[in-house]
Amino acid sequence: MRKPLMAGNWKMYKTPAETHAFFEAFKPLVADAAHCDIVICPPFPDLPVAIKEAEGSNVAIGAQNLYWGREGAVTGEVSGHMLQAIRCEYVIIAHSERRQYFGETEPDVVRKTQAALEFGLRPIVCIGERLEERESGRTEDVLAEQIDGGIAPLEPEAFAKIVIAYEPVWAIGTGKTATPKIAADAHGFIRRRVASRFGDDAAKAVRILYGGSVKPDNVKGLMDEEEIDGALVGGASLDPQSFASVVKF
Ligand code: PEP
Repeated sequence: MRKPLMAGNWKMYKTPAETHAFFEAFKPLVADAAHCDIVICPPFPDLPVAIKEAEGSNVAIGAQNLYWGREGAVTGEVSGHMLQAIRCEYVIIAHSERRQYFGETEPDVVRKTQAALEFGLRPIVCIGERLEERESGRTEDVLAEQIDGGIAPLEPEAFAKIVIAYEPVWAIGTGKTATPKIAADAHGFIRRRVASRFGDDAAKAVRILYGGSVKPDNVKGLMDEEEIDGALVGGASLDPQSFASVVKF
């Protein structure tokens, strides 16, 4: 059985002081939540505070991006080696905002995922279609391209360590959640597609999160779907009460 994973993506919000305040409020609210893994992904400058705050708790910390390679002349980037050194555990890869604003491509997904694994981080690899792609009936083609280009090139041992997040771009930060059925259908497609490359057992084992305007009042309907193994949550992860409600679905 797949253990649910609830991950918060803080994007470009919160200072270290605000991070400290969040954890003081959040940790007691989820202290008895053993039914799922909990991950928070703050901006880079908040990571040391978040990691210290999460020590000894049931909350793990992730970064929102990394660059491949251990170190080098790559101004403005952060490596998996650096994230590992501060005991960061997860990393989000190819969030749609990175694909859209920073031109991240499928070969980048492969390089970043491999780099994350090389440095002991657990990658959360994001895929998902844009509104015009859904409206023109291209959702499955787009997901297939993203899987074939960004995930299929991984070795089976690497695939076994990743988490996939299905995030339809039209649902991110828009308040428009995919219905549980729309999300579950997409997850089913993703699972079948990865099964054709990695086999049924690996496909059954991989966790596929849904992301896109998940909130306390819609999380239960989504989590009732067998195909949905958790959520990647933006806006609703910024407030301790709200994210605790999502975690407890
Ligand atoms: C996200 O940041 O991945 C996300 C899904 O954002 P939101 O929950 O705000 O739509």
